[in-house]
Amino acid sequence: MKIILLGAPFSGKGTLARNIMKDFDVVQISTGDLFRENIKNGTEVGNLAKSYMDKGELVPDEVTIKMLAERIKKDDCKKGFILDGFPRSIAQAEALKTITDIDAVIELDVPLDEIKRRCVGRRICSKCGEIYNTSTYDKSTCQKCGAPLFQRDDDNLETITLRLEVYEKTTAPLINFYADKLFVAKGSEKGPEETYKPVKTFLEGLK
Ligand code: ADP
Ligand code: ZN
Repeated sequence: MKIILLGAPFSGKGTLARNIMKDFDVVQISTGDLFRENIKNGTEVGNLAKSYMDKGELVPDEVTIKMLAERIKKDDCKKGFILDGFPRSIAQAEALKTITDIDAVIELDVPLDEIKRRCVGRRICSKCGEIYNTSTYDKSTCQKCGAPLFQRDDDNLETITLRLEVYEKTTAPLINFYADKLFVAKGSEKGPEETYKPVKTFLEGLK
């Protein structure tokens, strides 16, 4: 199964992807995570991406698309994958068409108020990647594995405002672009498990 996840920053794409991976034979491919890995390893791609990410702008297509195309070729993607954070523009979606077909697109729809509430509180486990929010979890270590939590460099108010604008302007048009494959999931106030339930039913119907 080949799935695209659409949704604004902080809509909960990463958490939803992790839930899908538990039940379906797919790997999560997050272009944001790939860039952060490159930055950590000091690669050329990382150095280039950092300047854009720090500002909350999109990394140029030629870099992003090439990185994604290479990642998708790897063996662990054979059974399927979830794209989290790619494509982020019509141009990237057009490029993706020449790389692979896609079975389903899931849009995670969360009200803007809720997104703003979540943004500065996001914390991520440095070891297992579990995602928390200080509004519901105020410890500094991971509940699952005990490793320290960290806040992403770009999770600050200035960058977040721009990232949300980029989403509305450049990424949201993909909702129409993928109309024939689209499933809309409403982010539930009851939490990620409730958000995931209808998505799971939808994906089971595709198998
Ligand atoms: P979020 O969805 O919370 O904004 P991501 O981890 O998906 O976080 O992305 C972080 C940053 O990485 C983006 O602001 C952008 O600079 C860069 N990035 C990630 N995916 C892409 C992409 N498909 N195209 C261009 N830039 C990207
Ligand atoms: Zn952890």
